[in-house]
Amino acid sequence: MEKQTKAIRIQTPRTQYREHSTPLFLTSSFTFESAEQGQGLFEETIDGNIYSRFSNPNVTEFVDKVCMLENAQEGIATATGMAAVFASMAALLKTGDHLLASRALFGSAHQIITQILSKWGITYTYLDASASEADWEAAILPNSKMIYLETPSNPGLELVDLAMIGRLCKKHNLIFNVDNCFATPVVQTPTDFGADLIIHSATKYMDGQGRVLGGIVVGKAEYIAPIRFFCRHTGPSLSSFNAWTLSKSLETLHLRMERHCANAMQLATALANHADVLKVNYPFLESHPQYELAKAQMSAGGAIVTIELEGGFERISAFMAALKIASLSSNLGDSRTIVTNPFTTTHAKLKADEKAALGITEGLVRISVGLEAIQDLIEDFTNAVEASAGVFEEN
Ligand SMILES: *Cc1c(COP(=O)(O)O)cnc(C)c1O
Repeated sequence: MEKQTKAIRIQTPRTQYREHSTPLFLTSSFTFESAEQGQGLFEETIDGNIYSRFSNPNVTEFVDKVCMLENAQEGIATATGMAAVFASMAALLKTGDHLLASRALFGSAHQIITQILSKWGITYTYLDASASEADWEAAILPNSKMIYLETPSNPGLELVDLAMIGRLCKKHNLIFNVDNCFATPVVQTPTDFGADLIIHSATKYMDGQGRVLGGIVVGKAEYIAPIRFFCRHTGPSLSSFNAWTLSKSLETLHLRMERHCANAMQLATALANHADVLKVNYPFLESHPQYELAKAQMSAGGAIVTIELEGGFERISAFMAALKIASLSSNLGDSRTIVTNPFTTTHAKLKADEKAALGITEGLVRISVGLEAIQDLIEDFTNAVEASAGVFEEN
């Protein structure tokens, strides 16, 4: 069966009520049919639900689908994407360990690495997107334990060569941990390149409609076991309601991603051809510096496009005011197209040199391309670029 079929057909066993669609198991605990069954469940000689901090049928259904989509053995769902990132690191790293990571990370991942893990004596080295295999290899220390990366990155859309990192992790016995949120398993499956752990903020494309928070880490059973222990006892569990919502959403993930990516490609192309747009960045445009790598490890370009406009914040302000369809929000991965100015919002706290290193200029606009009709989006963006160009020229 194709993954698209399985994402629709993997389902919690039907109850005695013969429901067609999985019901919501909104229960904190589960009953034991006998004292012996309770004992067996706690001894783990019997498989089953005990308490929703440990497992819940809705959560299990969601985890089963993501494991299938990512070709992963096992997984554990969490309340948010950040809980998944933190659990994967806190469960597997200890004092004295060293972590290597790509520099262009989601802001909170950067805070975990630099402000929280560092308190426990876990050190790190960041590598730039331009780092070669030799650069990465040279940064590996005797106490290195894990490589953590995001590809494509936010908001620079820089790619890291997954096959190259896979080779290095195998050679040096490191845990290969990838945040695959921007690509989704429809566009990129890191396990094909040797990834041991894959993380998602399910809040983004997995939900796809900007409704619920959720996270997940899937991967090799030997690494998921300590992460499960960590989550079971520290409690960042995904709620059954959110898991139910997310599992329903995965039924349409392939369809949605096809449309998201097709819309993004068309919008990127239209804006790249517009004289008033300084720069357009999109992995599947030939002008992307890592276009060949994008083609090698992604099946489509994803649904985030960035553009750069001339005229500083005044221009950005006029451009955003002129948009009639696209929303102004810091979120992404929604059916509604969203624009963000990372310089003044999501990445405002970075120092000037850090912004420069990540290509975050004043005029950068991140577009999370939604599912609206593409002709409407092209018109909305073209109009806003032209309307705001006038404002800028008067200055
Ligand atoms: C949003 C996001 C996260 C964090 O996920 P939450 O669900 O908001 O906790 C992590 N990584 C990436 C790439 C993201 O876009």
